[in-house]
Amino acid sequence: MCSIEHIRLFFSINDAATRYAVVMPTDRYHRQALVPTVGAEGQRRLGESTVLIVGCGALGSGSADLLARAGVGRLRIVDRDVVELTNLQRQVLYDEQDAQAGTPKAVAARKRLQRINSDINIESIVDDVDASNIGAIAQDCDLIIDGLDNFETRYLLNDFSTSTKRPWIYGGAIGVTGMSAIMLPHDTACLRCIFPDPPSPGTSPTCDTAGVLGPVISRVAAHQAMQAIKWLTGNTDAIDRTLHSFDAWANTQHAMTRTGPDPNCPCCGHGIYDWLEGGRAASSTVLCGRDAVQIKPEASQGAIPLRQLADRLADHGTFHCTADVLHGRLHNGLEMTVFENGRALIKGTDSTEDARSAYARYIGT
Ligand SMILES: [Zn+2]
Repeated sequence: MCSIEHIRLFFSINDAATRYAVVMPTDRYHRQALVPTVGAEGQRRLGESTVLIVGCGALGSGSADLLARAGVGRLRIVDRDVVELTNLQRQVLYDEQDAQAGTPKAVAARKRLQRINSDINIESIVDDVDASNIGAIAQDCDLIIDGLDNFETRYLLNDFSTSTKRPWIYGGAIGVTGMSAIMLPHDTACLRCIFPDPPSPGTSPTCDTAGVLGPVISRVAAHQAMQAIKWLTGNTDAIDRTLHSFDAWANTQHAMTRTGPDPNCPCCGHGIYDWLEGGRAASSTVLCGRDAVQIKPEASQGAIPLRQLADRLADHGTFHCTADVLHGRLHNGLEMTVFENGRALIKGTDSTEDARSAYARYIGT
């Protein structure tokens, strides 16, 4: 006679790789594996998966929390920032102790996630993702989740994903609106098929200047994590292939149909990887002895509307604007000088990560 207990014993003794082949009622994943489209086999697949989360602010926190609880076997988290008090309203992995200590988000996230699920492997990397390190950071991952605060790195992710044929899941949220879409290389339209170029620096509001509501973040992160679970469990037919967007205040949502890769797309159509090859990346240079960093966006970007930028920054520090330069000090003490061509001097730090973070948060890339 072969009882379920015998089957469980058989698998636990014989093969560690099949330990999720039967999920017992007492197993932590029981309720998830009960869902027929996941099942024991889907659970096993999740346990064997590696997911990279790039940026662990609000969206990254939400996705990481859901995927750790779901039993994704290996999570790698990369983030360049430290936890601040103003993060706690929406960044669900962090608490007041993290903010007080200024703990790097990747480190605080790993500790928190490991307390949630000690069975999985969690790696943290405190770094700024760029063309020089994305290959090493993303090696051997099955899927990448976008938790970024800037478009430049999203276009880099899109290049990397397309060139290495591994999916990534775009997510963005600001104010009361959110947007997300899974990018399946050479299957769905990629980011550049939809938006051939990123917005010019300084032209878009950011969460740091325009705000964002916590439930909006949760909704985008849930959509991202849902598509991740479908992909990782092999349920590719169920994947939402639209560009999903919503306005949580107006109670509207929209699913933009994507017709597949655009043959004229520079990235997935012609294999031109501008960000991966470094041609369109912003440069950052430490100005020795000046406690300052220069950020210089790519030359082809248009002029920054300095007066609009000054208006957006009015609540975040003291700024003065002329026709061709904006200068002032943020409440956090950093001094910013922004020129019409997008070049900025960030004074008060000799860290390129901190300066790039401030640029992304207050000017917007
Ligand atoms: Zn494309």
